[in-house]
Amino acid sequence: MAQQRYLAQVDMGKLVSLCKRRGLVFPGSEIYGGLGSTWDYGPLGVELKRNVKEAWWRATVHRRDDVVGLDAAILMHPRTWEASGHAEGFADPLMECTSCNQRFRTDDPRLAAPIKFGPQATLYEMPRRTCPDCGGVGTLTDPRMFNLMFKTFVGPVEDSASQAWLRPETAQGIFVNFASVLAATRLKLPFGIAQIGKSFRNEITPGNFIFRTREFEQMELEYFVKPGTDDQWLDYWLKERLNWYLGLGLRQENLRLREHGKDELAHYAKACSDVEYRFPWGWAELEGIANRTDFDLKRHSDFSGQDLSYFDQETGERYTPYVIEPSGGVDRTVLALLVDAYDEEPDPTGKEKEVRTVLRFHPDIAPVKVAVLPLSRNEKLVPTARQVYATVRQRFMAQYDDAQSIGRRYRRQDEVGTPLCVTVDFQTVEQDNQVTIRHRDTMAQVRVPIPELVPALEEQLAAMGQTSGPTA
Ligand code: ATP
Repeated sequence: MAQQRYLAQVDMGKLVSLCKRRGLVFPGSEIYGGLGSTWDYGPLGVELKRNVKEAWWRATVHRRDDVVGLDAAILMHPRTWEASGHAEGFADPLMECTSCNQRFRTDDPRLAAPIKFGPQATLYEMPRRTCPDCGGVGTLTDPRMFNLMFKTFVGPVEDSASQAWLRPETAQGIFVNFASVLAATRLKLPFGIAQIGKSFRNEITPGNFIFRTREFEQMELEYFVKPGTDDQWLDYWLKERLNWYLGLGLRQENLRLREHGKDELAHYAKACSDVEYRFPWGWAELEGIANRTDFDLKRHSDFSGQDLSYFDQETGERYTPYVIEPSGGVDRTVLALLVDAYDEEPDPTGKEKEVRTVLRFHPDIAPVKVAVLPLSRNEKLVPTARQVYATVRQRFMAQYDDAQSIGRRYRRQDEVGTPLCVTVDFQTVEQDNQVTIRHRDTMAQVRVPIPELVPALEEQLAAMGQTSGPTA
């Protein structure tokens, strides 16, 4: 059972401000006024993100015999995108303002609202064909298709021969390496190739903090199977992937699988379901899990002239494998974890007037696992506290903090989701060589001898992992 939460609904404004204040996520290029929907992960955010990626890599690659990893280049041969269909099909119908050149999706809600004009008493309305951005100065063109891939040039000459694209998904790097991986590893079907990396999409309507951005990180697995077994493997991966999110500590009631209707399916997909999370603005996709059939391997085979089929030694058949693709977003997972963990509770001791803000992260995900806090900066305490810190950080991502009152320091650690704090006090140095371990969620405190501290911390982190979901 996940820890009981006090808050019914998370206020995104408060979450975004906490992320900035505590070094989780900063607005990108802020000193220059920012760059539309780019975000930078700060000292604690980078730890959180790494924990997500490492949990995925452990579950998808290290703990399986049938999946290997890959780290392909972001820049790929332009033919890749012709074969994948992105050069032609990865586009949205957009209307462009003839004055300010801003582009709008045809379903932009601002276009639906009619324009009101005229004196206050007799307002006239007309349908929105004028630009909502430049105050009705420009008119909008008919919808045209715009490609969402970022264009760049390879080498010093900017002409069509040197034109390339930043990848809009990591998957194609896997397909073009299919034969090389097979030759290098001698894997037998079914097997998968996993990759984590940056992707780029010139999204028209980025937003909702790190939910939809133009530069983001994906965690993708292409799992190759024998045709005819694809339906059952899709079912298998739906369950695996949903369980993975539960294992990170996300609440069951905030997660669901949603199957795509036939009209929603990409042209290459036989079936697809999304893992969705209940964000403050509604249910939205964390990950798509699709049966991409043999579309990609066949297309790359046709476009490259290379054989991308598989010889089945057991049956003596040669065929092109089908592929099941679980494709998730690192940033969206980070956001779901932040939303799910965010809580405010009244101080149970009644001593502090402020509410206590806590990020109730699963310990595997928490950016800092243990904080070492001397009761004060008193010179009697510091050497022991430093020594304890040196020991603890050998095993855990740890922080040392001796600024301000101990109560404030506990609150600061709660706010970034640190599961355990270790306090060194006068009793430690003068009497018993024991320290206090204080729990983030219950605020309970126990004393343990310093030589037993590391195993005690291990045990208590494992126990906390059990109460906020199965360990990742
Ligand atoms: P959406 O419809 O929400 O834009 P999509 O269906 O286009 O997403 P996919 O192409 O299935 O997304 O990409 C797989 C995953 O990559 C998504 O589930 C999401 O986690 C992540 N992702 C895709 N686009 C973005 C983006 N612009 N910003 C952040 N993450 C993204």
